[in-house]
Amino acid sequence: MFIIFLMLGLIIGSFLNAVVYRLNAVESLWERSHCPKCKRQIRWHDNIPLLSFLLLSAKCRDCGEKISCSYPAVEFSTGILFALVGKYFFVLENTATYLPTFFFLVMFSLLLIIFVYDLKYMEIPMLILWIAVGAVLVYYLAIDWKAFSGATSIFSLKLFSGILAGAVAFAFFFALAHFSKETWMGYGDAYAGLLVGLLVGWPEIFISLMLSFTIGALFGIGLVLFRKKTMKSQVPFAPFLVLGIFLTILLPRIFPQLKFFLFYI
Ligand SMILES: [Zn+2]
Repeated sequence: MFIIFLMLGLIIGSFLNAVVYRLNAVESLWERSHCPKCKRQIRWHDNIPLLSFLLLSAKCRDCGEKISCSYPAVEFSTGILFALVGKYFFVLENTATYLPTFFFLVMFSLLLIIFVYDLKYMEIPMLILWIAVGAVLVYYLAIDWKAFSGATSIFSLKLFSGILAGAVAFAFFFALAHFSKETWMGYGDAYAGLLVGLLVGWPEIFISLMLSFTIGALFGIGLVLFRKKTMKSQVPFAPFLVLGIFLTILLPRIFPQLKFFLFYI
């Protein structure tokens, strides 16, 4: 099963690369892929995730233009994330796991697009963000509908917990953007914060944001130490928010003993 999800992830990852590129270039999603430099169509056998990148030694077959290693990196990450969802969410014999599995595959794909797009173009793709917000709301309605009669407190309703956490995170980032005049955070990060809260819920939002800020800070220190950036350079923040979400959702499932620890810090 692990292998099937991994393969699916590699293929979807290659599609996500195309989405990121075409969202920015405002191209149709359904054309055949072509080289951004010489515009020649990429042959089907040169379009195999990871493998083609290695076989072509990172160059376009027609014009020799270097292919960015972000492409195989995205394919590989999507493969790994899909494999983890397959391992920790999906049980073939249990049809109740099908909807959550599908939801997390879609959501992780959308988050990866936001991650790569913000890293590449220093901007959050709002279309993708709103699709993700809409998808979470629909999914929660479906889940809460079934669990409504058994709910012990209002916090066990995903919709309530998500909206509360989303509103708090949105207000927090909106205030940071407002008072820093968009030098610490942009207003786009406030909408990304809304998505983080919706997805991880209350009180996990605090864990998620703490993880994001910690990774962001370590990364920032690293960049300054290796003189890639100065203290003043702008670093996009959405990738760290996305990493925070991945860790908050996946870590307690991979290491169940962490769940106890995470709730009491
Ligand atoms: Zn080319």
